[in-house]
Amino acid sequence: MSDPSPRATRRATDKRGKGDSKKRNGPDAPYLPYGRQSIDEDDIAAVVEVLRSDFITTGPAVRRFEQALCEYVGVRRAVAVSSGTSALHAAYFAAGLGPGDQIITSPLTFVATANAALYLGASVRFVDVEPDTGTIDPARIEAAITDQTRLIVPVDFAGHPADYDEVGRIARSHGLTVVADAAHSLGAVFRGRRVGTLADISVTSFHPVKAITTAEGGAVFTEDAELADRAERFRSHGVIRDAAHQDREGPWWNEMHDLGFNYRLSDVHCALGLSQHRKLDRFIARRRQIADIYARALAGVDGLELPVVRDGVEPAWHLYVVRVVEPSLRRPLVEALHGAGVGVQVHYIPVHYHPYYQKLGHRRDTCPIAEDFYARALSLPIFPAMTDDDVHRVVDACVSSLHSL
Ligand SMILES: *Cc1c(COP(=O)(O)O)cnc(C)c1O
Repeated sequence: MSDPSPRATRRATDKRGKGDSKKRNGPDAPYLPYGRQSIDEDDIAAVVEVLRSDFITTGPAVRRFEQALCEYVGVRRAVAVSSGTSALHAAYFAAGLGPGDQIITSPLTFVATANAALYLGASVRFVDVEPDTGTIDPARIEAAITDQTRLIVPVDFAGHPADYDEVGRIARSHGLTVVADAAHSLGAVFRGRRVGTLADISVTSFHPVKAITTAEGGAVFTEDAELADRAERFRSHGVIRDAAHQDREGPWWNEMHDLGFNYRLSDVHCALGLSQHRKLDRFIARRRQIADIYARALAGVDGLELPVVRDGVEPAWHLYVVRVVEPSLRRPLVEALHGAGVGVQVHYIPVHYHPYYQKLGHRRDTCPIAEDFYARALSLPIFPAMTDDDVHRVVDACVSSLHSL
């Protein structure tokens, strides 16, 4: 996902002055990935400190990280797990998803959102998105609900929260649970409320391109102690250690009640997460500045549509997704930008396009708005360590590439 090449890592120390666009995009210009982590010396020191301590897993750093996340989000419980994908798996399990059940989600997401339902023997119903934000269209959810439906899973595409008021209203009237895939939106705000508090359960990811990183990692957020306990058990083999049982049987006693996994996040990872979380607001503020520069510099560029921010929403700007008006120009534009050292990506190949989902019976042309969104989308680089000069270099490359097509 983030570019691991030496060209990408060199960027962090390369502080070029302002140059004209030719110099900025010349053959020596360093490669700009679409996203990358920001790791400082204090992050490294925090990790080293844990490595020297008694506990490198299931130790105190896990609770400290979870507590810090609870305070940041403003939620009662956080369960740290090994990835965003295992967080989705744990959240769906906690919500009671099982064989024969169905989830409703958007096809404009990473495959993990849907895959985690398949892990539990459930199936997926894709519902089309809103044309401006690329998030699930509440107006289309009701018609997709069946007797099998258990969960509605909005995805906060690019860091812009879905319409949780509408989704929540529909879910309540049908007795369904809402699980937010907030992998893109940690730190975002919807109508005065923080992401992580907008659904029955919310899930985020700490992959290096996400808002903060633990290298690999994720978390489940919920107000509901029972859901949190179930997710916690699922993280560690479904095993419980109960004091009453231990009084009766002996201090070694534990019981496996659910078929769980080893989805624990180690203290090494949690130490990095704890150190990173202190920078989360700063990282997001920088992402917003970058989005503002793009918005001003690209406004009025012919053939390009810019991302939309709804009233009352403060996105986390995980991605800056622009769309070409003419779909046939998307591929040449992506290739021209790659040629200029600008590592644009495309988010996302609609999940139902993948051969695995085709084999399950999903078909193209079933979510035309998401499919049109995909066909015209490209994600410009956005990450906290980008300089203003980097951003202008991307803008220049976009403008000159579009002219030359
Ligand atoms: C990154 C991501 C995930 C999965 O997170 P991992 O930590 O990579 O497992 C799930 N959903 C979305 C929308 C993502 O972007």
